[in-house]
Amino acid sequence: MDQRSGGLAIEAVSHAFDGLTVVDGVSLEVGVGELVCLLGPSGCGKTTLLRVAAGLEPLQQGRVRIAGRTVAAPGTWTPPEDRGVGMVFQDYALFPHLTVAENVEFGLGARKPAERRATALDYLRRLGMAGHAGTYPHTLSGGEQQRVALARALAPRPAVMLMDEPFSGLDIRLRDAVRDEALALLREEGAATLLVTHDPEEAMRMADRIAVMRGGRIIQYGSPADVYRRPADPFIAEFFGNINRLSGIVDEKGEITTHLGAIRADGFPSGAAVDVLIRPEAVRLNGRSEGASATVQCARPMGPFGLVDVRLAANDCVLTSRVPGTDLPRCGEAVRITLNPALTFVFPRATP
Ligand code: ATP
Repeated sequence: MDQRSGGLAIEAVSHAFDGLTVVDGVSLEVGVGELVCLLGPSGCGKTTLLRVAAGLEPLQQGRVRIAGRTVAAPGTWTPPEDRGVGMVFQDYALFPHLTVAENVEFGLGARKPAERRATALDYLRRLGMAGHAGTYPHTLSGGEQQRVALARALAPRPAVMLMDEPFSGLDIRLRDAVRDEALALLREEGAATLLVTHDPEEAMRMADRIAVMRGGRIIQYGSPADVYRRPADPFIAEFFGNINRLSGIVDEKGEITTHLGAIRADGFPSGAAVDVLIRPEAVRLNGRSEGASATVQCARPMGPFGLVDVRLAANDCVLTSRVPGTDLPRCGEAVRITLNPALTFVFPRATP
């Protein structure tokens, strides 16, 4: 079988430390050429799951398959170096006593020296680092070291790439550039990539699919658009940034009546107490034309967009609107607001 077929399959994996379960029956597949982000808050078990897949943690329960081959299961154990995985972690972990080229050559094993060097230089070139081949890691910036770490992980052409917060040490400008370079190369190579991040924007930017993790379990799995536009619960809705919250009771028409108009609550029975979560970009400011009357409380320019707090005239409720551009309304200005229902979510009322 082609070693690159099959990608990564994690089946019903559980893991505990000192009797405390931190990964709880997780199943997840990453196909060839696919990038899946494991997204969740600190401590939810992301790194542990990745380490189990890599073989850096012993398997306690479940099964891991890589490129169609079982590498960990009850009674089966393949050590990390024989799993065909490339790993990139937050701390680039380059060997300080080896040059950049030697670092990349390190994983290329038994090939002839000239072939190893040529392959290392090829990957360094593709990541814009060929000019640094003869230098030592300590002379490189963080972004450069990260690109070398990527080249080192990719050069053996692993079937599976496991990446743990690989870009979090980089400044914003560098992070976007290195992320895009890495993504292009991973796609070109056709590796099945599982990338751990607690940054929803990073997941949205990179992933084909996002697995949202909480308390050791995957609580939603879908495309970035799915997870953003159809969050499975309020926690996931809020994980992508501050959100507005209204509460209401579903009427016999299956709607919640608010000062911003009726909101559909499909699937909820009449009389159900619900929370309505509204993404800031769903709160539209319409000047003086249509919608509920409100007054601007404050407007904060955030660079490419602005956050505008508005107070509804009808009930003094304050909502935050996210608006494009830098031309923001002034404090005290009268506006009218409407909602975009596509980014408005209805959930059963949370018990306090
Ligand atoms: P972060 O985003 O902060 O890295 P994470 O989602 O990757 O978090 P893990 O590192 O997998 O979470 O940790 C999950 C839980 O397991 C945490 O409560 C952590 O303290 C605990 N834990 C992780 N490694 C060990 C260990 N070797 N021994 C004991 N507890 C551990």
